[in-house]
Amino acid sequence: MRLLKHYLQSFLLLEMFKGMMLTGRYLFARKVTVQYPEEKTPISNRFRGLHALRRYANGEERCIACKLCEAVCPALAITIDSKVREDGSRRTTRYDIDLFKCIFCGFCEEACPVDSIVETSVFEYHFEKRGEQIMTKEKLLAVGDKFENDIAACKQADSTYR
Ligand code: SF4
Ligand code: SF4
Repeated sequence: MRLLKHYLQSFLLLEMFKGMMLTGRYLFARKVTVQYPEEKTPISNRFRGLHALRRYANGEERCIACKLCEAVCPALAITIDSKVREDGSRRTTRYDIDLFKCIFCGFCEEACPVDSIVETSVFEYHFEKRGEQIMTKEKLLAVGDKFENDIAACKQADSTYR
């Protein structure tokens, strides 16, 4: 009996018509496909993307080389060297984040006492050569300079939300 049923199903192409009915139903339904990259979906203020180091409005870098972010990073992705400047303030001489190690947990941002290291909403980036995944201090500061307005707006929205 099962064999006969199977034979009839195959002979009458029932499975194919079922599939075509499903296709037909969705042909006229509301489209949900996003035409990326022309169209983009909304991103949460709390999205954790590419890292950035921020500066104060006077151009001075915020980071005070306390190394809390390095200590808290569960992936050991951050490497910091520092030295004391002539004015007695301490600043980093090296600040690297290995994005291949990073798990985008956001702990570094949470730990930073001066809102220096942050994760932006930038997710469109790529690497073409070995070693480019290391975000150096210069690269991180450049990202911070470029997106400072967005970062400040996200920080403001996040503090309002909390
Ligand atoms: S997001 Fe997490 S894993 Fe990545 S550098 Fe920060 S603390 Fe480390
Ligand atoms: S980024 Fe923040 S937590 Fe990390 S060393 Fe600089 S001041 Fe300290």
